[in-house]
Amino acid sequence: MLGSWLFRRVSLPWRSLVHSVCRGRWPAGGPQNGECFRKGLRTTRILCSGRIVSVFTRALAFGDRIAIIDQNGAHAYRDLYIQSIRLSRQVCEVLGCSSGDLKEKRISFLCPNDASYVVAQWAAWMSGGIAVPLYRKHPARELEYFIQDSQSSLVIAAEEYVRKITPSAEKLGIPVLPLQNSGSHGCTSDQAVPELPLATDCPDWKDRGAMIIYTSGTTGRPKGVLSTHRNVQAVVTGLVEKWEWTKEDVILHVLPLHHLHGVINKLLCPLWVGATCVMLPEFSAQTVWEKLLSPRAPRINIFMAVPTIYCKLMEYHDRHFSQPHVQDFVHAVCQDNIRLMVSGSAALPVPVLERWKNITGHTLLERYGMTEIGMALSNPLHGVRVPGSVGTPLPGVEVLIATESSRREGSSYIIHVQGDERGTKVTPGLGDKEGELFVKGPTVFREYWNRPEETRTAFTPDGWFKTGDTVVFKEGTYWIKGRTSVDIINSGGYKISALEVERNLLAHPSIADVSVIGPPDPVWGQRVSAVVKLKEGEMLSLEELRSWARQSMALYAVPTELLLVEEIPLNQMGKVNKKQLLKHFYPA
Ligand code: AMP
Repeated sequence: MLGSWLFRRVSLPWRSLVHSVCRGRWPAGGPQNGECFRKGLRTTRILCSGRIVSVFTRALAFGDRIAIIDQNGAHAYRDLYIQSIRLSRQVCEVLGCSSGDLKEKRISFLCPNDASYVVAQWAAWMSGGIAVPLYRKHPARELEYFIQDSQSSLVIAAEEYVRKITPSAEKLGIPVLPLQNSGSHGCTSDQAVPELPLATDCPDWKDRGAMIIYTSGTTGRPKGVLSTHRNVQAVVTGLVEKWEWTKEDVILHVLPLHHLHGVINKLLCPLWVGATCVMLPEFSAQTVWEKLLSPRAPRINIFMAVPTIYCKLMEYHDRHFSQPHVQDFVHAVCQDNIRLMVSGSAALPVPVLERWKNITGHTLLERYGMTEIGMALSNPLHGVRVPGSVGTPLPGVEVLIATESSRREGSSYIIHVQGDERGTKVTPGLGDKEGELFVKGPTVFREYWNRPEETRTAFTPDGWFKTGDTVVFKEGTYWIKGRTSVDIINSGGYKISALEVERNLLAHPSIADVSVIGPPDPVWGQRVSAVVKLKEGEMLSLEELRSWARQSMALYAVPTELLLVEEIPLNQMGKVNKKQLLKHFYPA
């Protein structure tokens, strides 16, 4: 809606800005490294080292194209850009930074899933700060922890969250900069944009911190993962290339924006190429189906989610689209309009992949990533997607599957498999052997914020990041067996992947959801324990489950314990915290 804050006219005339930009002569496809635009008499260099640019530097080239559609309406690239400049100037003003370069000061921001998030993120970057996205559903105590741990200098808050965040900010002694719902963040429309250089005019832009995203903190307090602009660009350009993003694409965004999946894959990728991102304030199965099936332009042609979201969409489908002709319609629309549907951030059970294919005709493209490494492995856009596997390395990503072996002079490792985008080499005799995934390359983060020791131990001495995931390479593709610490169950000498047991059990007709854990067992070391949510009206005993499972699973992997629950607790990304689950059933 034109009345919303993003659509208020700003004082810097767009025409003159366009003129200035045109003098830099950006070729079609966006600005290039080192090119300049003029603002008044002064020339501000977008970049002066390397080929690293932040996504906002490309926005001007996309001008009137629609970047974001949210609950307030449509927002053009140029509007987002201008609003971000204004906000960045305000940020510098509040922090008394006359140079316009905050030199990596942290800026926390609490925004809804809409265009204001982009403005806050870009403003932090334009002023040379590190963006720390906060999540509105986190309780005040956690928000306080993130602000304090990141040593933020300022919190930008959307109007509706100012009351929530102010007591915490006051307690920590840092200012809150409210985003106003109407008007340009407190600037009147006639106010001139102050002439200040953008912080991108600096020699260290490439290695400069871009954002801190907090890990889910399964062991200890969450750690702040600091990624640089180079890291962000490497992940974005890798995905843009491999998944063939173009400016004609329209993605539906339904994920939280304090996690890599929501920030990079679903938001920065479309903004990098000049595409359109349709943002829902939060996930709702009904609204997602309405958007996917809507004939109204712009039509959604890309969708990405975590496996639990696909499960919720299927539940809705089964409940509301029961008639065969409606199901045919859904299938046909998805086939005709959508070019890519992606799943990631957690293991995609094969029964979910198969059922989604029946409903929509799409084989979900599964990929693997992590906050610390960005996206690392992906099934192909074209060609065969092997169900249950996560594909091969993305551009620039190098991987090893290895086992660590302690030697006298520090720890070393044995390589089973080594791969990159061009191919994978297998050490003879070790091909099928599971090991830990190590990752290197420009997508790998710079550091855990303020935790030098944890940063040091997360890497091998020669610079490989140790993911903590057990992985195997077979049939020309990589398979994630799970987190080594919780998903690899050592029972009677067998190493059992909890993810594989879960995949098998999900095919049981009475099971709605399952999480497999490995509590300690005096005889077997660990036992295979299935935490199960049953479908409505269903009953299941351990004996029934075991005799069913024996038909398709190795005997040693068949659960010896069944724990029935009403709901399996999931975090906002649809992940189970298995350490907490274990603690719940087996308090020490
Ligand atoms: P996060 O840093 O919160 O994104 O969590 C990353 C972790 O999620 C990885 O270390 C994996 O354990 C898990 N993960 C991500 N993608 C997949 C996938 N496609 N299959 C299985 N596990 C995954």
